[in-house]
Amino acid sequence: MPVLTAHSLTRSLGTGENRVQALRGVSLAIEPGRTYAIAGHSGSGKSTLLYLLGLLDQPDSGRLVIKGHEAHSLDDAARTALRNEHMGFVFQFHFLLKEFTALENVMLPMRKLGRLDPDAMSEKAAALLAAVGLADKSARLGNQLSGGEQQRVAIARALANDPALILADEPTGNLDHTNADRVFALLSDLVHARGQSLLMVSHNPDLATRCDHVFQMQDGQIIT
Ligand code: ADP
Ligand code: MG
Repeated sequence: MPVLTAHSLTRSLGTGENRVQALRGVSLAIEPGRTYAIAGHSGSGKSTLLYLLGLLDQPDSGRLVIKGHEAHSLDDAARTALRNEHMGFVFQFHFLLKEFTALENVMLPMRKLGRLDPDAMSEKAAALLAAVGLADKSARLGNQLSGGEQQRVAIARALANDPALILADEPTGNLDHTNADRVFALLSDLVHARGQSLLMVSHNPDLATRCDHVFQMQDGQIIT
């Protein structure tokens, strides 16, 4: 069963003369254990699509099914629960809490889910930070980390609850080549080993082609 299916999603944004049809009928399926890239020019609708798929925004029309749940039939509490349990986000404007340490930031989604005791949470968070190359920065506050380090903490945080689906908007955008490679390899290995799924917007053609499938977007549609 796919983790997620989208059927003919449409979405307009802006008001009056500035109203834009950002999505013009997008359908796709995300299977477990696979990595997907979304490629396309700026303004083609990539971020709008990720917001809809992540239940952070609602379509004007179309259907979205996530882990067997019809998204439109969920109330706010159910949407939040579904997001927290099954999805991990690495978004450009999804910042760390600056007054919390890297370790605490990674533990936050685990606390919300409430399935592990504090020792297990901190052990798991430390292992995730080590996996993104930040073992020695776990006690640093968010505002004492570079942009690239913050991005790697955000990736560790996205993985905290072993989400079925990882949604990422330019997850390696602030990283140098070595760290971009390392983070992508980590995400890709996890997805393939554990049957999770990754859907990633990337302007890095090298990383996009290393995904199992590439969705090409143009003018609010998937063209291939
Ligand atoms: P991408 O991520 O591919 O660069 P977006 O999904 O951000 O594209 O944007 C798709 C289209 O919707 C663009 O034409 C953009 O200008 C427009 N758009 C995005 N957000 C808004 C908004 N809040 N208000 C008005 N138009 C928007
Ligand atoms: Mg975008």
